This record gives sequence, structure tokens and C-alpha cells, in this order.
Amino acid sequence: MTYQWNSKETIGLLGELTGIPSPSGYTMEIMKKIEKMMDSWNVDYTTTHKGGVIATIKGENEDRHRLLTAHVDTLGAMVKEIKPSGRLKLSLVGGFKFNAIEGENCLIHMASGKTVGGTILLHQTTVHVYKDAGTAERNADNMEVRIDEKAFSEDAVRELGIEVGDFVSFDPRFTATESGFVKSRHLDDKASTALLLQIVKHFSSAAEKLPYTTHFYISNNEEIGYGGNSNIPAQTEEYIAVDMGAIGDGQSSDEYTVSICAKDSSGPYHYGLTRHLVDLAKKNDIDYKLDIYPYYGSDASAAISAGYDVKHALFGPGIEASHSYERTHTDSLKASAALLYAYVMSPLVS
Ligand SMILES: [Zn+2]
Repeated sequence: MTYQWNSKETIGLLGELTGIPSPSGYTMEIMKKIEKMMDSWNVDYTTTHKGGVIATIKGENEDRHRLLTAHVDTLGAMVKEIKPSGRLKLSLVGGFKFNAIEGENCLIHMASGKTVGGTILLHQTTVHVYKDAGTAERNADNMEVRIDEKAFSEDAVRELGIEVGDFVSFDPRFTATESGFVKSRHLDDKASTALLLQIVKHFSSAAEKLPYTTHFYISNNEEIGYGGNSNIPAQTEEYIAVDMGAIGDGQSSDEYTVSICAKDSSGPYHYGLTRHLVDLAKKNDIDYKLDIYPYYGSDASAAISAGYDVKHALFGPGIEASHSYERTHTDSLKASAALLYAYVMSPLVS
């Protein structure tokens, strides 16, 4: 038996995952969904105090373990201030710039559990009024949320239930095109999460057994730097972050292959394990790109910084316009799924 990757199922699941707001720090709903999925597949898991889920599937060898992680937390914001006009100032959650969310619809998640909709705009957006609409720097002072309620004062907004510290999530605008592209916010890292979950589902019921006990860590704090880096079982020898490949000038990653990262801002990934991934891609005819990401860190590099003694590596689908309105292609999802399967079935590196 081998793994039959199903593109329709992946894209369906990806649509569901992107549809659940989950900025870092506000991932309760999506983690409940992950737990439900694990329950439905009868997979053992533990939930950490930080809210991450570690699912474990026993292998032929129960003494030596490997761990793979993908993160479901995303970029987002918090209400920083309610202006006298009733508009909201934002404090960003995660690493991105205001221009990446200009014009985007959003939801404000109030303490009551209810949401209010709005749009993130430059204060001087109207070109009929403001001369500097095009040139004004987009920053925390002049970007604001126009809420979709008749509330035009600080008091009126507070009466709605909006408060400083409320989370703000961005409309993902998930779209799958006939030509095989998937466009959405938060493909980083929900695309990898969808692929990882499908591998878990496969091995929860497959006739074939994993060679080693394998942990699947769905982490919920990667965008703020401390995702899947606690409660790593002591027997873990290899730690793989399944996360996006960075595309841009000078990068070799693209939307049609799986990106294997040799080095990011944190330093080189484990040489032997990275070579092992490249060998697996070659042996299994998986289209891959080896790359270096200039401004990037992962849960795997964070695990190393936190002092874990593991071999670490990073691979995943190539994501265009990352941390903005992102895009990838099913070719990249397919190649990433193939490498995931090849890896979990492969021997540990020495
Ligand atoms: Zn990511």
C-alpha cells in the first residue's frame, strides 16, 4: 500500500482551515477542530498548556522517534486604541507590514464571543480629499479600522463591546482556480497543516505501519516565535518543520515544487537530514528546490534555540507573496505531500 494524495480533499480542508480565524494568541477554535479531527481518527494526542496538539502514532520501532510540525496560527492584530472618531488603531501580531493588509476586510473578536466586521484602511484613503493618499507612509498611526456599525465615538464603540486587546483577524479570501492555483491569506502555514493532517489520517487507519513512532505537532504560536517547542518527547531524534518556501528575487523556490531549506536567518539546518530530504526527493521523482530564506525562522530553528538536542530540517510548499495575499499551486502541494510521505517512511539519519 502507498499513500494516495487527494488534491480535492486537501484543498477542501485548506478552505476549512483558512475559514477559521486563528491569529497567534487566539487559536482556541481551530485547535478544537484539530482535536476533533484527531478524535474522529482515533489518534492519541495531548494538548499542551500553550494550546498546541501533539498527536502520536506508534511505529515498528518505539524507542527512536521523529517529530513533524506545522502551525495553524496566523498573522493578525489586536485593537490598540479606540479613536475619538470611533475608528480603531491596531497593534500587529506577527511579522508583516501594514501595506499587506490595506483595504482588507477584518473581524473584531469581542470578549462576548461575537464579532464585528470592518475594513482596514489608511486614514487618508479618499483621493478626493487627501493629497497624500498615495504617498503617506502606512503605519500604526494612520492605519485604522472602519467598523461596520453606526458607532462614531469612543463610547459608542465601547457600547458595542469592542475593547482594547480584542483580537482582529483578516478575511482570508480563499479561492481555488481552475488552473490549479490556491489563493488565500494564511496559506502559511495552513497549507502544510492540511498536508500533515492528511498524513495523520492516512496512518491512523492504514495497513502499513510507520517505521518509527512519529509525533505530529500542530503548533499555535509560530508567528510569534515559540510554536512547537515544548513537550517534545525525549526520544525525538529528528524534528521537521513543515512550513512555507519563500519566493522572490534570487530565490530558487517556486509555486510548483517542494522547497527544502538549507539555511535561514537562524543558521544552517542539519546537513545530514537536509541531504536525506534531497535524496528522498531525487529517489522518488519529487520536484524540489533547495533554497536559503533570508528573513525567516521556523519552529524547528526555535526548537534548536530552546536547547533541544535534535537534528532539524525544514521543507514545505512554495508560497508566493508570503504574509500578504498568498498563492501557491497544487503542484507544490502535491510535491510537498509526496516528500512528507517519503520522509515518514524513511530510515532515520544514522
Ligand atoms: Zn509559517
